[in-house]
Amino acid sequence: MILLRMSYLCTQILNKSMTFNDLGLRSQVVKAVTDMGFEQPTPIQLEAIPHLLKSKSDFVGLAQTGTGKTAAFGLPLVNRITESRKYPTGLIICPTRELCLQIAKDLQNYSKYEKSVTVEAVYGGADIQRQIKNIRNGVSIIVATPGRLVDLIKRKAIQLNEVEVVVLDEADEMLNMGFKEDLDFILSATPEEKSTWLFSATMPKEVARIGKTYMTDPLEVSIGNKNEGNANIDHIYFSVKERDRYAALKRLIDFNPKIFGLVFCRTRRETQQVAEKLGKEGYSAEALHGDLSQAQRDRVMNLFRSRSIQLLVATDVAARGIDVDDITHVINYNLPDEVENYTHRSGRTARAGNTGESLVLINTREKYKINQIEKIIGSKFTQAEIPGPEAICAIQLESMINKVKATKVNEEEIAPFIPHILADLEELSKEEVIKKFVSAEFNRFLDYYKKAGDLNAKASDRGGDDRGGDDRGADRGRDRGRSRDRGRTDENKQRFFVSLGDKDGLNPGGLLRVICDATGLKSDTIGRIDIMPAFSFFDADKSDAEKILAQVNGADFEGKSMNIEKTQEKSKGGGGRGRGGSRGGSRSGGDRRSGGRSGGGSRSGGRSSGGSSRRR
Ligand code: AMP
Repeated sequence: MILLRMSYLCTQILNKSMTFNDLGLRSQVVKAVTDMGFEQPTPIQLEAIPHLLKSKSDFVGLAQTGTGKTAAFGLPLVNRITESRKYPTGLIICPTRELCLQIAKDLQNYSKYEKSVTVEAVYGGADIQRQIKNIRNGVSIIVATPGRLVDLIKRKAIQLNEVEVVVLDEADEMLNMGFKEDLDFILSATPEEKSTWLFSATMPKEVARIGKTYMTDPLEVSIGNKNEGNANIDHIYFSVKERDRYAALKRLIDFNPKIFGLVFCRTRRETQQVAEKLGKEGYSAEALHGDLSQAQRDRVMNLFRSRSIQLLVATDVAARGIDVDDITHVINYNLPDEVENYTHRSGRTARAGNTGESLVLINTREKYKINQIEKIIGSKFTQAEIPGPEAICAIQLESMINKVKATKVNEEEIAPFIPHILADLEELSKEEVIKKFVSAEFNRFLDYYKKAGDLNAKASDRGGDDRGGDDRGADRGRDRGRSRDRGRTDENKQRFFVSLGDKDGLNPGGLLRVICDATGLKSDTIGRIDIMPAFSFFDADKSDAEKILAQVNGADFEGKSMNIEKTQEKSKGGGGRGRGGSRGGSRSGGDRRSGGRSGGGSRSGGRSSGGSSRRR
């Protein structure tokens, strides 16, 4: 394999003196690119284009999304086609419908002065008959998602015998999404004699395998290091208690009034919930996930692209192929299950030479994930503090004042109202008027933050948690119990049984979040929490008991329904861990003795072994 690894800086310097005219492209292609406002080639274009124009060899381009790789393969491909043919010369395979449409649009722009180039995008979820008809009319470049292309090949609706160039774009994403078999099938349907150009942000083993199996001595160009993230991205993490995750998200948004960002969640349900909550609280946010219909997804993407919304809350899969430039922030509300996906998330910001921030919220036991990601992206995270209320209020005020200063006054339309308004405000000095207008806008915000405290997790919140998510030993169970044991063991408390426990991923913060979200109660009204392997207990004020029962029962926790019941006796004193036993009449003495994790081991009349007893 011929390896050409460019230092980013070196290519940038070279880049300064090179134009598209110097790369060997035909004048019509250069003209089209100039029309698009591209003045100089990006590093990947600089490396790829001259080579792909001259050589028939295979090619591997390792470059992040946003580096200009579509033009790096698209321009030489368009340049190669000089005559109309019935069957495709170029085949581009990419992971998502959005990317497919974007690439097709870019190619149409590059070839706008080339009559012989015709481009067709084929992707799932659209009318296949129309696609077949267009292909039959003769197309020189097909841009396809793997699933739909396999379908077309199996229907014998597409003829790939004359393909000269196959481009695999975002190869790592395609393999991540489970398209390995489809790619093998497609590549085996193309001629032996062809050039294969593979583009990928990272080079995991599976992508290297494709290179080995289907390519011969490819020229490999890497912008930055293999698997490395974009150097223009600042990676910053914030350590918060689990129950404060959502409040912390809001602060990050509030601290960045001009944010135009993507918020990543782990599940569709979490995505929907976070977007809905943000929407209800006046944030400009919409959800994007696989439960939405194609029409709904298109609507949301159009809102985001046109900047009619500031925040897109998305799952990893739904956000693939999002090609929006100028995204200022990627917020990882929760880190992805597969840490490798972090690179794809953060790569949505800092596109096309911009800078951007990738912010990560972790709870106190997730620090190990940051270490894992640092190894993958080859750069360090900065730890930062969730901004406090004062800093946020100052930023928001400043932003509001700037907005006021920049507001254009529509003199004509407002003129008829002014005399009346001035007369109404006559009593007030200029300073008073300003204060009142600012307060009218800002009081709600100030009120919200008045009582807001510090959301940063302290070292003491950590217990033994930093060892990571798989470290589910007894110590952790004890820490969990203790963390909510506030010694308020009065008879005004009601103890509740909860049908989910440690093995469902529940922890005290998560339980608190569910309770407080469902009821609107403040977290300090909830007392001791005991998380057991299969179920849990918590104490709450008796006066809130009915509300809690009515509103928490059936609530969702990460896709599971949480059922709760009052235990049969009230929590009794005695302190320590024995209170869990109060739920079961005659068993309470035994539970009190057992202490530790068995404190909540069984429900009334149930079996005494903590692990096996579950709601019946
Ligand atoms: P891509 O990585 O192909 O998705 O490109 C990212 C963004 O950079 C797109 O908005 C392109 O239109 C833009 N772009 C690509 N090449 C250039 C260039 N040479 N000069 C300016 N913008 C470019």
